[in-house]
Amino acid sequence: MASIRIKFDRFPNGLSKAAVFSFDDGREQDRKLVALMNRYGLKGTFHLNSGFLGRDGYIRAEEVSGLYEGHEVSAHTVDHPFLEQSPGDQIAEEVLADRGALESLVGYPVRGMSYPFGTYDDRVAAALPVLGIEYARTVASHGRFDMPEDPLRWHPTCHHKEMILQAERFLASNPRHSRMELLFVWGHSYEFDNDGNWELVDQVGERLGGSKSVWFATMAELIAYRKAVGALRFSVDRRLAHNPSAIDVWFSAESEAVKAGAGETIRL
Ligand SMILES: [Zn+2]
Repeated sequence: MASIRIKFDRFPNGLSKAAVFSFDDGREQDRKLVALMNRYGLKGTFHLNSGFLGRDGYIRAEEVSGLYEGHEVSAHTVDHPFLEQSPGDQIAEEVLADRGALESLVGYPVRGMSYPFGTYDDRVAAALPVLGIEYARTVASHGRFDMPEDPLRWHPTCHHKEMILQAERFLASNPRHSRMELLFVWGHSYEFDNDGNWELVDQVGERLGGSKSVWFATMAELIAYRKAVGALRFSVDRRLAHNPSAIDVWFSAESEAVKAGAGETIRL
């Protein structure tokens, strides 16, 4: 029997596009931002400094779980240091203590972060897996819709100032060779106050929010999904596919979208 051609180019529900929004620092303007994102069905990953919670201008610890429900709470270190200028044990303490404090508020493992000031070096990135961090966002925008090559140096598409233009490019994108395309926006909610441009959130919500062709995901969901795709097992002729993961996975078989449900073995 002839073997068939499998391609990992699908997100959940067979989609080929995903959007992630990632905001830093947990300032009080997150309340307005989350309310707007909820209105438009956008999902966010919010990177919080546990040491700043409850300070003037910041989110309070007791509102974290309710405010960010349906979104992801992620680490940003306790005190927002320059990690590349920190000794190793200080890096460990900043990351582990932040994870622990946030986990006690949200009730799930916190496995992601963004680099304070966006700065890092090879030593910092290499330390993160031992500290339980699977993915870390930089501020090095590249203007593309690529999935991360290295999740510990996860470069975004653009800052939120450019998100309207990039969202329009993203929706119009139709690559000759199908692939997973990711629009990844980063920023800070307080910048919308500083710059007086909250309308950007409405504009991106109106353009993107209702789209049936886009999967709105947190960073955690995206990484979990990609790991589940990587864990698929195929027979030699690729006519049998087993999904050992606890989440449903989609892929292309001879260019057609196929779903392998959690724990299922399917015949193609
Ligand atoms: Zn920050």
